[in-house]
Amino acid sequence: MILDAQGTPGGAWQHTWDSLHLFSPAAFSSLPGRIMRAQPGHEYPDAGHVVEYLSDYEQRYELPVHRPVRVQQVPDPQARTGGQVRRSSMADMAATTGGATL
Ligand SMILES: Cc1cc2nc3c(=O)[nH]c(=O)nc-3n(C[C@H](O)[C@H](O)[C@H](O)COP(=O)(O)OP(=O)(O)OC[C@H]3O[C@@H](n4cnc5c(N)ncnc54)[C@H](O)[C@@H]3O)c2cc1C
Repeated sequence: MILDAQGTPGGAWQHTWDSLHLFSPAAFSSLPGRIMRAQPGHEYPDAGHVVEYLSDYEQRYELPVHRPVRVQQVPDPQARTGGQVRRSSMADMAATTGGATL
């Protein structure tokens, strides 16, 4: 499960200047399993191209992203309470995201 505070895929690239580009050509910026295609007319893809690629990647692999969900705290699964090892659970997760339905 992946939690993302934003409403749509693309991470920080959704909020950059239009003029911001990757530092490397598309072929060197791919995530495992799916090549980032070149952006016509741009050796270094722009933010819109990156957002498109990340959105497509998420769909292609059906990544289980829940949004918008802002994580407020991550319980330490090794934390001991009363001599017991505490495990994180869906209930813990809901509590630490402000009660969002997951
Ligand atoms: C100018 C520039 C050029 C780059 N060039 C290249 C390149 O050429 N090739 C390359 O491979 N990489 C490049 N990178 C790096 C690459 O783009 C980044 O590594 C990548 O975008 C970062 O992705 P990320 O998901 O780690 O972080 P982000 O894009 O910052 O996404 C983090 C996500 O976590 C969410 N989040 C944060 N806090 C919480 C919370 N408490 N609860 C829930 N969600 C939360 C945010 O809302 C966001 O959606 C470049 C980066 C920059 C800035």
